Amino acid sequence: RTNSVHEATPESMPLSENALTVLRERYLAKDDEGHIIETVDQLWERVACEIATVETLYGATSEEVASVEEQFHQMLASRTFLPNSPTLMNAGRPGAHKQYSACFVIPIEDDMQSIGNAVTAALLIHKSGGGTGFSFSNLRPKGDRVRSSGGVASGPVSFMKIIDGATEQVRQGGTRRGANMGILHVQHPDILDFVSCKTLDGQIRNFNISVAVTDEFMNAVKEDKPYSLINPRTKHPVKEVFARLVFDRIVEEAWKTGDPGLFFIDRANRACPIPAMGEIVSTNPCGEVPLHGFDACTLGSIDLAKHVRIQPGHGQYEIDWESLDQTIRLAVRFLDNVIDANDHPLPQINAMTRQTRRIGLGIMGYARLLMALGLPYGSEEAIRLTERIAHQMKAMAWRASEQLAKTRGVYPAWKGSKHEQEGRQVRHSYVTTVAPTGSLSMIADTSAGCEPEFALVWFKHVLEGRKLPYLCDLFETTARREGWWHDDLIDRIVANHGSCQGLKEVPAHWQQIFTVAHDLTPEQHVRVQAAWQRFSDTAVSKTINLPSTATVEDVRHAYVLAWELDCSGITVYRDGSRTSQVLNLGKAD
Ligand code: UDP
Repeated sequence: RTNSVHEATPESMPLSENALTVLRERYLAKDDEGHIIETVDQLWERVACEIATVETLYGATSEEVASVEEQFHQMLASRTFLPNSPTLMNAGRPGAHKQYSACFVIPIEDDMQSIGNAVTAALLIHKSGGGTGFSFSNLRPKGDRVRSSGGVASGPVSFMKIIDGATEQVRQGGTRRGANMGILHVQHPDILDFVSCKTLDGQIRNFNISVAVTDEFMNAVKEDKPYSLINPRTKHPVKEVFARLVFDRIVEEAWKTGDPGLFFIDRANRACPIPAMGEIVSTNPCGEVPLHGFDACTLGSIDLAKHVRIQPGHGQYEIDWESLDQTIRLAVRFLDNVIDANDHPLPQINAMTRQTRRIGLGIMGYARLLMALGLPYGSEEAIRLTERIAHQMKAMAWRASEQLAKTRGVYPAWKGSKHEQEGRQVRHSYVTTVAPTGSLSMIADTSAGCEPEFALVWFKHVLEGRKLPYLCDLFETTARREGWWHDDLIDRIVANHGSCQGLKEVPAHWQQIFTVAHDLTPEQHVRVQAAWQRFSDTAVSKTINLPSTATVEDVRHAYVLAWELDCSGITVYRDGSRTSQVLNLGKAD
């Protein structure tokens, strides 16, 4: 018996039907009539060529550019690394926006001009495939004075509705609606309206929402103390409330619908190497990147499951550190080039991104890596190993940034940064993150981000009503090879909520290795997130997926634990808590 679950060399795996469907529907270039006009290989080539051309800015000869292009091409075609969707969709495509980033934060001040500008920014960014985060914390509360009109203010939630409505009307690249993050500081007087804004009148549909909570607030929750609500216009306290009262509402709403999440705002600012650029008050839509206003981040993710090799003499899989290091170095170079290739819809964003030179190198295929290594997701052993992997990968990524700085210089905002204080010459203010890789993981035929497999049999709602069916192929090949596959197994798993736990025909050892999302305790989910946080300079996108039977107390526990374990934020989702959800248990038909 072996622990191995791969049959072929992972990076040479052909594209699956699901991957091809996603590429055809959303990524391959089309003519005006909607006919596809490129092959998958031409897609890799167009992206590699566009991003490699940037090398000329740094004095590369045409032979050097061609060599880098070939390396990029190979990296994409092997799907060992993929840049975020806007890069794949737009780079090098005639007539496309030269906008290659997924993550943006747009600042909002307490005046109509600023709100109008934010709506315009959101429309332009969504059109080019990016998502926008906003903090509404500067807006004066509902009922506050408006001197110019002599009336009263309608408050942050009413302005969220305006951006939401505008977003509804723009479909990104004709395929997806724009994603937004709405953040409100826990000290804002309208905090309770905000916490329930998605359930109360159903008008806010295109926002994830998170409450920006301070350490002081979390301590007040633990100690059952009151804290002050402050009017952002006057800066005066308006009321004292018990922190637990607000926290109870947050966890009850999150239990009901998945919103709001928490954004640990003090942590984000403590971890920020460029405090001179101002306070960070919001993240991008899926939470993995806290950003200064008008900054953007291009993400790219490495498939860990494609960086394993068979240990000589043992027949067991191990991480291929050399190939991982190689991919990391090339990926950092790729993402550095994207910053220069980008032409964002707003001049302020072009200026800011070239100052901070943020990149977001992330991972996917983590659950599949663990399966290959024979370690159950969420187990003590897996978490210990993950901390080691996270630590080492982060060091590799920063070494790559240092190497680039030697030839290309440090990022312009480096002057006055913590990196300068530490004497570290680096090319980027931020390098690593963990993105959700919702689409990338489908293209790469791997598990998403740092998530466990959602289930062994499941389907995903994508592309306007289509359902893509998934069967964990590693499970099937293992079962067939080990001789315990039978034709009813899929139905047995479906009846068992997508899990093989407790099925007598599946040997106990394999039941553990094929642990899926709902087999895990909330605590295990959070601990994995905290382990990956060690890798991430920014935040980690993770959904604490809970079974439909999870309680409000489970949510509360997860929210407190995330803060205690120094996560950057947290999001939960309880199965079945929305009428329509993206990931679903069972078969597609
Ligand atoms: N995003 C978006 N709309 C979407 C999905 C994602 O604007 O429908 C943005 C958002 O900022 C998110 C980021 O892209 O945080 C990364 O998401 P993901 O990794 O799932 O994107 P992919 O590159 O796989 O499409």
